Amino acid sequence: MTTASKLIDAMGRPLRDLRISVTDRCNFRCNYCMPAELFGPDYPFLSNEQLLSFEEIERLVLLFVKEAAIKKIRITGGEPLMRKNVDHLIEKLVRIDGIEDIGMTTNGYLLSTYAKRLKQAGLQRVTVSLDTLNNERFGEMNGRGIGVQSVLDGIAAAAEAGLQVKVNMVVKKGVNETDILPMAKYFRNRGHILRFIEYMDVGNSNGWKLDEVFSKKKIIETINKEMPLEAIDANYRGEVATRYRYKGSNEEIGIISSVTDSFCSTCNRARLSVEGRLFTCLFGSKGHDLKRPLREQKSDDYLLELIREIWQTRDDRYSDERFERTDIERPKVEMSHIGG
Ligand code: SAM
Ligand code: SF4
Ligand code: SF4
Repeated sequence: MTTASKLIDAMGRPLRDLRISVTDRCNFRCNYCMPAELFGPDYPFLSNEQLLSFEEIERLVLLFVKEAAIKKIRITGGEPLMRKNVDHLIEKLVRIDGIEDIGMTTNGYLLSTYAKRLKQAGLQRVTVSLDTLNNERFGEMNGRGIGVQSVLDGIAAAAEAGLQVKVNMVVKKGVNETDILPMAKYFRNRGHILRFIEYMDVGNSNGWKLDEVFSKKKIIETINKEMPLEAIDANYRGEVATRYRYKGSNEEIGIISSVTDSFCSTCNRARLSVEGRLFTCLFGSKGHDLKRPLREQKSDDYLLELIREIWQTRDDRYSDERFERTDIERPKVEMSHIGG
């Protein structure tokens, strides 16, 4: 049974999930996230001292559990497998009373090496990002010329280690919409849920344009032509992906349509950035600094009050606003600092 979150925002939304970014570094340079031209060899990534330590993350998670009865955590980045000993963090978080589910979003490149260790540490699920099965296109999209096989090996290693695997595919019009069907068929046959993500205007670096979005409607039309779909109910209120199954089967896909069919009214996620700022929206600008009070040895009561105040005054609905008006201009946090 799920206990209701005690913490409700200004629009009646409970706080349920916490996403934690553990590094701003990445071994890929996906052009929709960290384009190589902007994230070059001299890019000033954060120093170790600037990152939250595992102990600091653990303390914050304990407080979130206490204040909001958080049960679900997702580890992300940057590329979370580039944070040294990230399995040690998972071991700490798994032991926290109340935490029932820990997942990780990864590009999968290092998963063959780490899958077993992650599972042993207590990780339950991974979402692996893969945008195409076409080697050449994948190399271009990841900005490093890396081939598909390394990621497929990572997925296989994760499944073999007993981790639940989902796959995320960002669809960018004019780039990889022809990969929708091959990806759908491939992962349907292997029993992994594939989730299509509309290309979003995260951060300030990707030069996003509305006409580069391949919409949820078009994604469904594309798949329907060969493999008819039917809608199915959400697993729980606030689930980001809309679910569909292939007619006459139990195999499903998901679509995350933050641009053409936004879902702010049920958004119950908070994000802890790599340098310890709490963001109440993926499209936030500055977030709220939790690292400073942590390092000033403030009391639990002080931090709890801060978290409470931040969430209770939250009124974010960026994607809904963007849908109403696509010319919103504001500086946004980079995706690599807060994860997806
Ligand atoms: N490096 C890991 C990975 O790629 O899975 C975790 C961090 S990444 C920022 C988290 C998710 O955000 C990935 O699934 C990625 O494809 C997605 N993402 C990044 N930039 C995006 C964009 N502009 N639009 C939609 N999704 C995006
Ligand atoms: Fe790295 Fe993930 Fe961003 Fe790609 S989407 S550049 S893999 S953080
Ligand atoms: Fe939540 Fe912000 Fe995304 Fe809306 S735009 S669903 S409030 S993260």
